[in-house]
Amino acid sequence: MKPTYYPEPFRIKSVEPIKMLTKMQRKQKIKDADYNVFNLVSEDVYIDLLTDSGTGAMSTAQWAGIMEGDESYAGARCTRHVVANAREIFGFPNIQPVHQGRAAEKVLLPILLNNKKYAISNMHFDTTRAHVELAGARAVDCVVPEALDTSIIADFKGNMDNVRLDELIRKIDPQNIGVVIITVTNNSAGGQPVSVANMRETRKVADKYGIPVMIDAARCFENAFFVKRRETEFKNKSLAAIVKEMFVCADYFTMSCKKDAIVNMGGLIGCRDKAAFELVKQRCISYEGFITYGGMSGRDLEALAIGLKEGMDEDFLRYRIGQMEYLGALLDKAGIAYQSPAGGHAIFVDAKKLLPHIPYYEFPAQALAIELYVEAGIRACDIGSYMLGNDPDTKEQLKADFEFTRLAVPRRVYTQAHLDVVAAALINIKKRASKIKGYEIVEEPPVLRHFTAKLRPLGKE
Ligand SMILES: *Cc1c(COP(=O)(O)O)cnc(C)c1O
Repeated sequence: MKPTYYPEPFRIKSVEPIKMLTKMQRKQKIKDADYNVFNLVSEDVYIDLLTDSGTGAMSTAQWAGIMEGDESYAGARCTRHVVANAREIFGFPNIQPVHQGRAAEKVLLPILLNNKKYAISNMHFDTTRAHVELAGARAVDCVVPEALDTSIIADFKGNMDNVRLDELIRKIDPQNIGVVIITVTNNSAGGQPVSVANMRETRKVADKYGIPVMIDAARCFENAFFVKRRETEFKNKSLAAIVKEMFVCADYFTMSCKKDAIVNMGGLIGCRDKAAFELVKQRCISYEGFITYGGMSGRDLEALAIGLKEGMDEDFLRYRIGQMEYLGALLDKAGIAYQSPAGGHAIFVDAKKLLPHIPYYEFPAQALAIELYVEAGIRACDIGSYMLGNDPDTKEQLKADFEFTRLAVPRRVYTQAHLDVVAAALINIKKRASKIKGYEIVEEPPVLRHFTAKLRPLGKE
């Protein structure tokens, strides 16, 4: 019997044909791409699970909204629509649209980290870590220990370790910490949710030392759906009420709207403090554009205003999170380990377990991503030592807590049959796992290297 699949709560109105290459062709394509999946052209990918970021399918309402875009430089109607919806959803008085999540980080983090040495988070996403470092500070992760064992089934593996947070703050000195960041869901730990109880506790610890709390809200709606299912207090609450409860815990938030707001481009900054918001607006004008468009086209702002509401729909989220659970269940049957239980936006395959003979400095998760492409034209990515990069002080290769190959599922794009192809590919790879070789880096930039680095397979090809 097949695992449960919650059918799509929509029908398809427009389709995009995709190409299927032969295995021989794909072997050549990935070689030509220097074994970096970011260098593949999208036409050569059959199922693109590189990211769920900006890759979702918009609804008819959003496409209609595109035509309603107000492209005025100042005072555009669409911005007011975004701000009104965001205020209502998040309960924040001050909202600044920007063009994506890292733009929000670039504008806000230097304000919070001004003359401070550290940011602490349950886990920093890679661009968040980069912007903490670019602001001259260090990013420290403080996730609960169960997150680090992919085989432990727990409801909230994305949680902050609040006891350790308190210890860390005292050890580092509260004066040196600019912000405590709660990432929901915890992307780097496998799209794992954070409980509201845990967020409240983090708030308490931060308050004790007068440190502001920021939510990295890329997947806050998926997080709210998990909270409703798994946290007794919220069993009968609406997702809207749960999102509000989550955001009460924060002074600031950044959001990549390319995730849960189902738009191809967009971001938000939320700010309770008026003085800080004035700084946000000034920096936004320098880096993003005037405050009433924030680096966005009017049409994209309108799609975002609508997407914020659609992304919070419970039927949609049941189907969406159901897709991960379905794929996870297929892998369970095949004995393929992944960060369990299934996360909200992706399955994070445990490449360390599938390819135990490849050490972290030969990038097992990257090796698996390459095999998935060769096997079935599936594009996944490394969330492991390859992505983590080198220590900014010593320049040595860092050892990541995980070696994940992430299969991120775009919203409203792929069907049950596509997920079956993905599971079948992994099962085939598992059969020949012991023959798969690691990789070495030939060329790399100093930050966010995984996007542009060039690699070479080790041993005989
Ligand atoms: C995607 C993401 C970001 C960065 O957002 P972009 O829109 O890609 O710039 C930040 N934090 C988390 C948790 C994310 O998933």
